Amino acid sequence: MKILVLNAGSSSIKFQLFSMVDSSVMASGLVEQIGENESNARIKYNDNQGSECKKEIKGSIPNHEAALKIMSTLLIESGVIKDLNELDGIGHRVVQGGASFSEPVLVDEWVVTEIERLIPLAPLHNPGHLAGIKVSLEQSPQVPQVVVFDTAFHSSLPKHAYLYAIPYKLYEDLKIRRYGFHGTSHHYIVKEAAKYLKKDVNSLNAITLHLGNGASMSAVKNGKSVDTSMGLTPLEGLIMGTRSGDIDPAVLFYLARKEGYTIEDLDRLVNKESGLKGICGSNDMREIGKMAQEGNAQAQLALDMFNYRIKKYIGAYSAVLGKVDCIIFTGGIGENDSAVRFNSCSNLENFGIKIDASINNQRSSGIVKISTEESPVKVLVIPTNEELEIALQTKEVIERAK
Ligand code: ADP
Repeated sequence: MKILVLNAGSSSIKFQLFSMVDSSVMASGLVEQIGENESNARIKYNDNQGSECKKEIKGSIPNHEAALKIMSTLLIESGVIKDLNELDGIGHRVVQGGASFSEPVLVDEWVVTEIERLIPLAPLHNPGHLAGIKVSLEQSPQVPQVVVFDTAFHSSLPKHAYLYAIPYKLYEDLKIRRYGFHGTSHHYIVKEAAKYLKKDVNSLNAITLHLGNGASMSAVKNGKSVDTSMGLTPLEGLIMGTRSGDIDPAVLFYLARKEGYTIEDLDRLVNKESGLKGICGSNDMREIGKMAQEGNAQAQLALDMFNYRIKKYIGAYSAVLGKVDCIIFTGGIGENDSAVRFNSCSNLENFGIKIDASINNQRSSGIVKISTEESPVKVLVIPTNEELEIALQTKEVIERAK
């Protein structure tokens, strides 16, 4: 069984082709700068001998239709597939599924209309996803297509956790509430942790941390998300590369009244100019770590703030869960930055959390337990694989529909 996973953004499309026999990646690639004069498409694929090969196309790629044509040309010319109709399924990543979708679904007309209706809740993401879905439906009408939502894993949040304490009518009329994001990643690492710890996922309590450019945490009770740090949009919660995370909304009123900031100014401020970048000028954690080591006080401050915010959420989610089996780190920072892991979990012995510094400092791939043997809460590093999770969910939906 061959499943193609598409992650279409407004100006790029990432793709990965899986052989579901062994979940191996047959090809992966990226079409970038769609709609610009000079665009770029790259593919990596495995040839029949198992070595990795690369191909590249440069030129102008005016729209998603052209981008997907180039992707299929690359897949066919490299011999990975003969025809797109040979695929058993296509899985599309969609960031915002709102309250309409609590699980992945087969694409039909209603699903497309619903994703369109949800654009105001994800103006940066859903239009690109939709363009990818529509073109893909035209180009491969015989192939079953599935949408997998970043929000779906958090559809189990109880009402008291997802509501904001603003007039209830705003929830009823405009569906303003916490949705949460990175769900595919949180879900994947919880299932991997259950396998690793040899526990039934339905009785696993975990605090999950997806720390990348965007960062979010979830409290997972009996395998289900019961709280998460991102909200109506991916802005709330942890300090991120360029996003502020939690902030008193009155700061924004103050800036508008006192300094004349417009809505666009404020949007840019909290989404693009804040977070780590706002404090120390960089949003790249590797660079910030280096700057701090060289004595840059602002970089050290940014790190301290980043770790402190995580620690506060660990405390909050420990209280939400009562009993925590494990804490799981993933994402570019979570998987690679041992100092962030150590410092955000320091002095939490009373919570049953104790990191083994020497294991934590070792570089390794795959799943690693970085807590000490005595630590009642296991702390794990688990590389995320959102594309594989989308492929697995796509396969499941297609098989169920047969
Ligand atoms: P995205 O959210 O865009 O998918 P990633 O999950 O790739 O982001 O994470 C990007 C972040 O991970 C950046 O801040 C980057 O500096 C950080 N990162 C990547 N590798 C390392 C590393 N070896 N050590 C520390 N941070 C790292």
